[in-house]
Amino acid sequence: MGQQNLGHDMGGSYEHELYEKCIMCNKETETLKTTHVDFRYGYVEGAGQMCRECYLGENRNLITINSRMVLDTPNNAELGEKVRQIYWESKK
Ligand SMILES: [Zn+2]
Repeated sequence: MGQQNLGHDMGGSYEHELYEKCIMCNKETETLKTTHVDFRYGYVEGAGQMCRECYLGENRNLITINSRMVLDTPNNAELGEKVRQIYWESKK
């Protein structure tokens, strides 16, 4: 006991990880981990942080729905229509 530190220096001080990793491609994003979610670019609630390329890219499988829209649209069919509209707009 007490000698366990020998030879276990790898990967310690290098892993600062200041930036969030993209949930899609696992690359480091431009978003600091300390940035509040309200001020983040490419952050999808319930999913996580995406990098610029994935957020704008064609392989994007996530859409963002403003929670305000859910609250402001009591009619489910109407809400569904709006969500679908956002979906198609994301595919443009
Ligand atoms: Zn990415």
